[in-house]
Amino acid sequence: MSPRKPLLAALALTLFAGSVQAADDEVVVYSSRIDELIKPVFDAYTAKTGVKIKFITDKEAPLMQRIKAEGQNGVADLLLTVDAGNLWQAEQMGILQPIKSDIIDKNIPPQYRASSHDWTGLSLRARTIIYSTERVKPSELSTYEALADKQWEGRLCLRTAKKVYNQSLTATLIETHGEAETEKLVKGWVSNLSTDVFSDDNAVIQAVAAGQCDVGVVNTYYYGRLHKADPKLPVKIFWPNQGDRGVHVNLSGIGLTKHAPHPEAAKKLVEWMTGEEAQKLFADINQEFPANPKVKPSDEVAAWGSFKADSLPVEVAGKRQAEAIRLMDRAGWN
Ligand code: FE
Repeated sequence: MSPRKPLLAALALTLFAGSVQAADDEVVVYSSRIDELIKPVFDAYTAKTGVKIKFITDKEAPLMQRIKAEGQNGVADLLLTVDAGNLWQAEQMGILQPIKSDIIDKNIPPQYRASSHDWTGLSLRARTIIYSTERVKPSELSTYEALADKQWEGRLCLRTAKKVYNQSLTATLIETHGEAETEKLVKGWVSNLSTDVFSDDNAVIQAVAAGQCDVGVVNTYYYGRLHKADPKLPVKIFWPNQGDRGVHVNLSGIGLTKHAPHPEAAKKLVEWMTGEEAQKLFADINQEFPANPKVKPSDEVAAWGSFKADSLPVEVAGKRQAEAIRLMDRAGWN
């Protein structure tokens, strides 16, 4: 054997390894979360691994349509969005594929992942009750259901039923109480509204602060942002249903696209995103709870107090979404 051969073999191996790496040194993410919520996390990953992350941000519906339209010529490796209702939609459209990973399974509790493994939660938010500290005593509050009582007539503010957050909340109520009871309850909420529904959660919190209503239902991070901007905000968070099923918790999450060009690199990124370092960064940026229970929330978030969360798998929000939309419509929730 000439001494050259091992050298050539070594060179060929290096080139081969190089070409494999070249194909896998970037990941493309389609994200419905805005740049400032994701860029620090992706920058940290690039600094650690050298893997570049390209991301395109838009609303979830056009991103999902785009992934579908691109089909086998898919550009995106990952779809990052919020609410199990949206992730479930993507799953139904057939634009995702499962990631089988012991790391993800170990890091994220099963109720915050798709049973198909098509997506996993990354951060959690509670959709909970807020109240006016000037006009409501927390002892008057108990459950989501109780907001339908006569006591709250003309005192409740809600966001529009068109928002997936409320559809998901209603879907989990249907799962718990059945359709007839949930419809009665939602009608009770609608009849207690003090004013027309709002287009976003911030407006609900501001309406409670301004005295337009006394109680509302919002995602925790909206409260966190407004409270940070104005620590004297006369509004507080209440954790309902602590004596029964717990608070409705939803998530932001991520899924691997069906035709991902860099599936291995994408899987590694998702695994890292469920781990301690990324979980802390990702959750804290938006005042959310880490989906990995080993990671503690920020001091700001921890200050809201601990609570019992509903243990229903969040994919129920997707499975019953169509039912929830029809029910909300019948109940007159606009
Ligand atoms: Fe939101």
